[in-house]
Amino acid sequence: MHEVDMTKCLLLSMQEWRQQHGSSNPIVNVVHLQVGDFTCVEPAQLVTTWDVAVRGTWLEGASLRIEAIPLVGRCVICSSTYSPRPDVAYRSPCCDHPMEEIVRGRELRIRSVDYILQPSAPAVGPSLVPS
Ligand SMILES: [Zn+2]
Repeated sequence: MHEVDMTKCLLLSMQEWRQQHGSSNPIVNVVHLQVGDFTCVEPAQLVTTWDVAVRGTWLEGASLRIEAIPLVGRCVICSSTYSPRPDVAYRSPCCDHPMEEIVRGRELRIRSVDYILQPSAPAVGPSLVPS
């Protein structure tokens, strides 16, 4: 269910993104998404949900590519950063302090969008024939 809500948020963000392009009607090929390891989002699940959600919409055919961001914590005792591990309850390896600060790993954002602009209809008219 989490992924379904995430997908809805993504679609809203993409809708806003499209509006910034005004009438130019971008065709989206790839949406690059950063997902932190600490967001509880399953990347494969999110891709599946996305593929279903965009079917029949202006985003049909656009694929979601996910870049995983590893979790990084900062120890509030000694200020060092570390890679928290679930098997030690995310405690800092230096001071064994519970994780209180997360530096990275909670990201869920669109990093970039690959798209092309639909070419405006070519002006069709009588070719100029010199008389
Ligand atoms: Zn420490």
